[in-house]
Amino acid sequence: MTPESGVPLSRLTTIGTGGPARAFARPETLQELEQALEWAAERELSVATIGLGSNLLVADEGFDGLVLKLGGQLAEARVDGERLVAGGGAANAVCLHRVRAAGLGGFEFACAIPGTVGGGVWMNAGAYGSDWAAILDRALVVDADGPRWCSPGELGLTYRHSELRHGQVVARAEFSLSPLPEEQIKANVARLQALRKAAQPTNKRTFGSVFKNPDHELSAGRMLEACGLKGHRIGGAQVSPRHANFIENADGARSVDAIALMHEARRRAREEFGVELRHEVEFLGPLDLPPLG
Ligand SMILES: Cc1cc2nc3c(=O)[nH]c(=O)nc-3n(C[C@H](O)[C@H](O)[C@H](O)COP(=O)(O)OP(=O)(O)OC[C@H]3O[C@@H](n4cnc5c(N)ncnc54)[C@H](O)[C@@H]3O)c2cc1C
Repeated sequence: MTPESGVPLSRLTTIGTGGPARAFARPETLQELEQALEWAAERELSVATIGLGSNLLVADEGFDGLVLKLGGQLAEARVDGERLVAGGGAANAVCLHRVRAAGLGGFEFACAIPGTVGGGVWMNAGAYGSDWAAILDRALVVDADGPRWCSPGELGLTYRHSELRHGQVVARAEFSLSPLPEEQIKANVARLQALRKAAQPTNKRTFGSVFKNPDHELSAGRMLEACGLKGHRIGGAQVSPRHANFIENADGARSVDAIALMHEARRRAREEFGVELRHEVEFLGPLDLPPLG
């Protein structure tokens, strides 16, 4: 396994921004993953794993470390009895396909989450009243010290959060599901997808929700809409005219444009509602939000 250098991460994120990774590798087995982690440790390089890049804003300067994208065995999904057994790099869409064919329900909520199993563990992805924590049995986390199975409690899964840190790779996960007729699963998915289509931008380059919902009667989206931010544009990035908690890459956006929009949104939410919004999107590389002052 020899990592490549200079791979542009803009190609691996759904928003389509971000500079290069100093090193990039696609491990396909547990052994290759361990070798990659060892390679980085020998060079004292930071390690970050990328899934489908659907919750990720990468600095325009890139990431000065090793980026891993899991493939091969580490991106496969299969059903074993009433369990879904999936690699950390398995796409949610593939998992849903497998469990639907096996007549297992409980994973339908993930139909609108365009990520991977590992990305879902990292941020306890969820929608429509369910999340990873509700169905996850255990996850195999690999770091420089080797592999270790972790329960949801050990992973510290709470609302859009886990205690995982870069350098810890979710290589596999096992989920408990329940029997449900395939037709019922299809109907559930169609209903959830219709809800999603009615409320959020589709066919746009975004990274999903920008901010976590605050402890307030208004959701982040409604709050930013009330601040008049729909359609607001900085550089090539624009607050979605459809849903104010989404930022779209309208035209050649850079990550700094998205950061500037996020800062403006936070500034207005604090001024008008006294709320300090916290970002849901993950940052990679030298990126941070300016303090609100
Ligand atoms: C249109 C749209 C709609 C969305 N709707 C939802 C929604 O309803 N609910 C929701 O929760 N999210 C939603 N998202 C956000 C996103 O899809 C989820 O957060 C998803 O779980 C991210 O998975 P990913 O594989 O793309 O992770 P990435 O974006 O690639 O990475 C996210 C974080 O996870 C880490 N990571 C990824 N894979 C691994 C791994 N194997 N091991 C360790 N760390 C890893 C990364 O380092 C990074 O810190 C949406 C995004 C879009 C674009």
